[in-house]
Amino acid sequence: ENNYRELIVGINTKVPLSNKKLVAAINFDNAATTPPFVSVIQEINNFAPWYSSIHRGTGYKSKISSDFYDDSRNEVLNFVGADPYYYTAVYLKNTTEAINKISYRMYTKNKRCVILSTSMEHHSNDLPWRDKFKVDYIDVDNTGRLSLKDMEKKLRKYNGEVKLVTISGASNVTGYVNPIYKAAQIAHKYNAKILVDAAQLISHRKISMGNPYSINHIDFLAFSSHKMYSPFGIGVLIGPKEFFENGEPEYKGGGVVKIVTKNTVIYDDPPEKDEAGTPNIMGVVALIAAIKTLNSIGMENIEEHEKKLLKYTIDNLREIKDIEIYCDTQNISDRIGIIPFNIKDIPHDTLASILSCEAGISVRSGCFCAHPYVQKILKLSEKQIKSYIKYPQSPRPGMVRISFGLYNTTEEVDVLIEMLKKISQNKEDYIQRYCPESNFK
Ligand code: PMP
Repeated sequence: ENNYRELIVGINTKVPLSNKKLVAAINFDNAATTPPFVSVIQEINNFAPWYSSIHRGTGYKSKISSDFYDDSRNEVLNFVGADPYYYTAVYLKNTTEAINKISYRMYTKNKRCVILSTSMEHHSNDLPWRDKFKVDYIDVDNTGRLSLKDMEKKLRKYNGEVKLVTISGASNVTGYVNPIYKAAQIAHKYNAKILVDAAQLISHRKISMGNPYSINHIDFLAFSSHKMYSPFGIGVLIGPKEFFENGEPEYKGGGVVKIVTKNTVIYDDPPEKDEAGTPNIMGVVALIAAIKTLNSIGMENIEEHEKKLLKYTIDNLREIKDIEIYCDTQNISDRIGIIPFNIKDIPHDTLASILSCEAGISVRSGCFCAHPYVQKILKLSEKQIKSYIKYPQSPRPGMVRISFGLYNTTEEVDVLIEMLKKISQNKEDYIQRYCPESNFK
């Protein structure tokens, strides 16, 4: 059905079920990490003979590695439509490190300076701001979507004191794609900058950061390669060169300076200034190979395929007895392929185990590093939340999440639906086997 499957490593891997039968593994946990592209692993192998230190040697191999590393930045900027005259791409470990870096680099002693985050963020785009700034959160509406109305209300309320609006490009819980260009326009109207956490968006939609002369450009973008079919540990932070020129990097060491004397340090220009230590060239080789493959498929084709899959899945999930789906099931136009749900009476982690052991399906369950958003969607009361704080070892509320990659198929969805039907019709049996301590009657 889907000729993207041959692009993925290990697509036919078999895994054992609880009855020891081997079945093809089904991965519906792409929001956590995607499997590698075959092209990525091939490029890693091709490049391995040239693997050498970056900016630290004069040998031929070191020159090849350094040139590849330096040239790659323009390919990354190009991939997200960022004008290379104005922007630079800093290589880091992942999105989390990228957002921590920008929060460190933005820190001022001005206590009135406000960061406007949202109520739907991953902890990576919430916690790094909390200890350094006054943080406020843009509300979500009753479907869980970002409220631009509330964003503007809060920008007006803080009257020019909001330094940065920081929002996810797409939610890792509900899959809603945020209106980032509209949000950028509103933020700029109030003289605030905008950071987009693109960890989830990057492998599902074409992104266009633009240039500073357009009112709806994106000032900062952060993403991780491991969610775009390329492992080996690279994260990217893109922002204006001018921003990185000012101030000092938080990590200091080799590779970040022009000159050091006993009493003086003159830092390098961006982006090297923010990349202390020996760079991760293999991570960059993998990232560039993934970008090439994504470009050759076409982001619009990926979007179209994943939307079809999402619609097919939601239509079928809705038929399942006692299912609760925690996102808008009617309007799916602004969604990536993520669906959070529960089946009444079955603990989320038990349901995830059953899917794995009985059908070889990987999903994620829990609160997905976005506790406040999940608490809101599950409509937990203040009293319930307080009790979880008081008894942190007690079973946590949560959901099951399925998340698609470009290679998933409707046939795989059929396996999931069949299994969920069986589970919901035979709850007692499954609970007894997988969660005997539960008090299900
Ligand atoms: N933001 C979002 C929306 C995410 O989904 C994730 C990963 N789950 C992150 C940030 C953090 O990414 P990483 O773990 O690669 O730093």
